[in-house]
Amino acid sequence: MYPVKENLHKVLSQLPEGVRLVAISKYHPNEYIEAAYEEGQRIFGESHEQELKQKHATLPSDIEWHFIGHLQTNKVKYIAPYISMIEAVDSLKLLREIDKQAAKNGRTIKVLLELHIAEEETKYGLSLDSCRQLLEDGEWRQLEHVQICGLMMMASNVDDEQQIRSEMMLAAGFFDEVKQKYFAEDDAFCERSWGMSHDFPIACECGSTMVRIGTTIFGPRIY
Ligand SMILES: *Cc1c(COP(=O)(O)O)cnc(C)c1O
Repeated sequence: MYPVKENLHKVLSQLPEGVRLVAISKYHPNEYIEAAYEEGQRIFGESHEQELKQKHATLPSDIEWHFIGHLQTNKVKYIAPYISMIEAVDSLKLLREIDKQAAKNGRTIKVLLELHIAEEETKYGLSLDSCRQLLEDGEWRQLEHVQICGLMMMASNVDDEQQIRSEMMLAAGFFDEVKQKYFAEDDAFCERSWGMSHDFPIACECGSTMVRIGTTIFGPRIY
C-alpha cells in the first residue's frame, strides 16, 4: 500500500496555521481515503459525480466532500443532498441550479467561484472581468440556498515559480477587491482555494486558506 499516512503527515506539517487541506482522492480507492481518515483527515475532494456517489455511500458519513471539478448543471441534483462545498462555480446558470437543488433538499450549499487566470486554454473558470460582472449583476444575492465562501483557482502548470506566484498573487489581490466591494460584512466569504501538489508551498505564501492536494499524498492516479 502506498504510504498515505506518512505522506499526509508530511504535507500537514508544511501547512501554516490557517491553511486547511482538501485531500484530493479522485481515482484513488476507498482504502487510501480510509487511511487518511484514520489519521484525522475529514475533507476530501472529488471531481466526478459517479465516483463520488459510490465513495459517499460507502465511506464514513462525517467526511466533508468537496466537488472540485467542472460540474455540469444536470449533475447538480445528484450531489446536492450531501455535498459540503462546490469549489468550481463558473457561471450564474450553475449557481442558480445549485440554489434550486439545495432548496429542494432543505440545505444551503457552500460554493467558491472559480477564476481562470492560468495561461492554459480551458473553457472553465471566470475571467476576472466576468467574475466582477457576475457579482455586480447582483442576482446571486437572491439565491438564499447558496453561500459564496470565496474563490478558487489553478495556477498554470509550469515550472516557473515566478509565474505561479504572480498568478496566485493576482488571485489574492482580486479576492481583496471583491471582499471589500461585496462581502465586507460577510465573514463566510474568507476562502482562497489555491495550491496543488506541485505548487502548494507557493500558495501558502500567497494567501491560500485551502490547498487541494492529491498526488503528493495518494501517489499517481491510475486512470
Ligand atoms: C486533481 C486536482 C487537484 C489535485 O492535483 P494534484 O496535482 O494531484 O495535487 C487539485 N485541484 C483540482 C481542481 C484538481 O482537479
